[in-house]
Amino acid sequence: MVSYKELGLVNTREMFAKAVKGGYAIPAFNFNTMEQMQAIVQAAVETKSPVIMQVSKGARNYANATILRYMAQGAVEYAKELGCANPQIVLHLDHGDTFELCKDCIDMGFSSVMIDGSSLPYEENIALAKKVVDYAHQYDVTVEAELGVLAGVEDEVSSAVSHYTKPEEVIDFSQRTGCDSLAISIGTSHGAYKFTPAQCTRDPKTGKLVPPPLAFDILHEIEKKLPGFPIVLHGSSSVPQDEVDTINQYGGKLPDAVGIPEEQLREASKSAVCKINIDSDSRLAMTAAIRKYLAENPSHFDPRQYLKPARENMKKMYIHKIVNVLGSNDKL
Ligand SMILES: [Zn+2]
Repeated sequence: MVSYKELGLVNTREMFAKAVKGGYAIPAFNFNTMEQMQAIVQAAVETKSPVIMQVSKGARNYANATILRYMAQGAVEYAKELGCANPQIVLHLDHGDTFELCKDCIDMGFSSVMIDGSSLPYEENIALAKKVVDYAHQYDVTVEAELGVLAGVEDEVSSAVSHYTKPEEVIDFSQRTGCDSLAISIGTSHGAYKFTPAQCTRDPKTGKLVPPPLAFDILHEIEKKLPGFPIVLHGSSSVPQDEVDTINQYGGKLPDAVGIPEEQLREASKSAVCKINIDSDSRLAMTAAIRKYLAENPSHFDPRQYLKPARENMKKMYIHKIVNVLGSNDKL
């Protein structure tokens, strides 16, 4: 058993309380590789932002659970080396689907876990979340639970259809589970194809797809029922058109990829939404830079040559999100 406190990590409690009060949101960036980790830490340090580094079950399968945990420990030390005296870094499990997985992460030094029982019947979701909360709180680890179902594919989590969170359930759910934050479904979605072209309208000027707006009425109803309670949005990549264009220009094939417009996320950040999950945008930034580099330098084969611009491009994207969308800069 390793406590996250020994690793210099923090849980989300104080971070979320400040974010809700201050009208901004904490970035939750997924990571699988060293380059992503470096880019996240560099961006957070340069902007003086707290940050949540999150690991999905797929990331644990890809990179190895032990390695990722030590990378998070390394992230804290790296932030200090870059001149940040008191980094506020959370190591969070994204979409934990069993009690055992959550327990395993808590025991190896995670400071926060998500238990996603959103696909279960309501009472089973409560029972599972409560079991995780009861264990996690013994070690001062914070727990995110989810009500409502997001559409789309994220690693091993997928659903064809979304079900918006029912505001009438949130008080009962949060009280009975004791969760520290609640992920809700108001129209965000996992992956780079958040909406089908049929769900969108076309901007007559640009010809680009415009997705349906988020259900802010549901968000505001939930806020009224749970004043000040931390709300989480999953699937909140914006799928930047320039990155998609670069990928397609250099041999990729991502037709009609659609994300959540940044203006809407900016608006959500000012509400009780205090954690916004971004994964696909990092994947796109990395892939766009690598495709471009390799197309322009066909004779190069040292991975450092193409991973360096990939890292730079991700860092630029993370800084943009922190400063221009979430507003979590200058909060350390
Ligand atoms: Zn998610």
